[in-house]
Amino acid sequence: MKALVKESPSVGFVMKDVPVPTIRDDEVLIKVSRAGVCGTDVHIHEWDDWAKGRCKPPFVVGHEFAGTVVEVGKLVTDVHEGDRVTAEGHIVCGRCHLCRTGNGHVCPNTRIIGVDRDGCFAEYIAMPAGNVWHLDDDIPFEIGGIHDPMGNAFHTALTAEIPGNTVLITGAGPIGIFAVGICVAAGASCVIASDVNPKRLALAKNMGAHFVVQPHEVEATVRAATQGLGVDVVLEMSGVPAAVHQAFKEVRVGGRVQMLGIPSKPMEINLATEIIFKGVTVYGVVGRRMYDTWIQMSQFLRSGKFDPTPVITHRFPLEQHAEAIAAIKSGEAGKVVFEIG
Ligand code: NAD
Ligand code: ZN
Repeated sequence: MKALVKESPSVGFVMKDVPVPTIRDDEVLIKVSRAGVCGTDVHIHEWDDWAKGRCKPPFVVGHEFAGTVVEVGKLVTDVHEGDRVTAEGHIVCGRCHLCRTGNGHVCPNTRIIGVDRDGCFAEYIAMPAGNVWHLDDDIPFEIGGIHDPMGNAFHTALTAEIPGNTVLITGAGPIGIFAVGICVAAGASCVIASDVNPKRLALAKNMGAHFVVQPHEVEATVRAATQGLGVDVVLEMSGVPAAVHQAFKEVRVGGRVQMLGIPSKPMEINLATEIIFKGVTVYGVVGRRMYDTWIQMSQFLRSGKFDPTPVITHRFPLEQHAEAIAAIKSGEAGKVVFEIG
């Protein structure tokens, strides 16, 4: 089969022919239809310090996908040939303290497809049946293929209290834009999205944000929209230090800051003034809760109140991987998707 491979510890990917994966008794083989491209893939492509410390080439890249089951292992009972599926890409142990208390999203034994084992930028992928998530018949593969980052947004938003509340989303990358649509569907009274990039602010507006603003306009917008109180909830989705400080500045006393964005290096926070004296609750987001986030995501899609389609701006065949990576690096894209089979 054709696959996009991180061949060696250096910059780049190569398209090559590799064997179709063989499955274990508890796994299924999935024919990949659509696969989302993500910032993590760019880190692996560029072979930055994070990738150097984490990844061991050679391996097939990619962790967001949807497709059709074509083979099931002997022990698999509830996934069948022909099923339309996506999958949770974090493979957890199921045995540790965290897994056994319903917190598998922070399992210390997590292995991620396309990072720690072969991924989905290929014609086929092997997945543990336990990670498979069935798609409703009316959910296109393209939407199935972006459940992973959408799930990040659902996890970040819905572990805070959104109905009736005022929300500031700092960073309108693909995940921030999904979060706008989720908060609107969940009944936020006001959603303000900030970004430095006008194209992305336009996408956020399209998903229903009440206000889309540049970072320097956030303070006045929050003040006007909250009668000077500050927002009830901030979803920090940029990982940029200036936006992190802004999150703590604009949250109201006693409010909540949900931290998804990953700063590229350690940063200083004034714990006393930014968090403690304001009585702020901070929540660190890792991946998607297994599987409450997935259930919420499917139910929001079913409700018809949340449609992520406008977030997808670029579609490429796997052969045009250089163009796909360039589209993400340009900052001009919403979600970039490979059309594989
Ligand atoms: P992204 O990194 O492209 O989005 C970040 C956005 O922040 C960009 O649109 C950028 O223009 C904007 N930005 C830059 N400076 C800003 C400022 N001062 N104020 C407001 N916005 C500003 O794309 P993404 O895929 O949506 O990822 C968002 C973040 O989430 C990244 O940091 C990513 O690494 C992280 N992430 C975390 C998890 C997790 O499990 N915690 C999972 C996936 C991604
Ligand atoms: Zn575990």
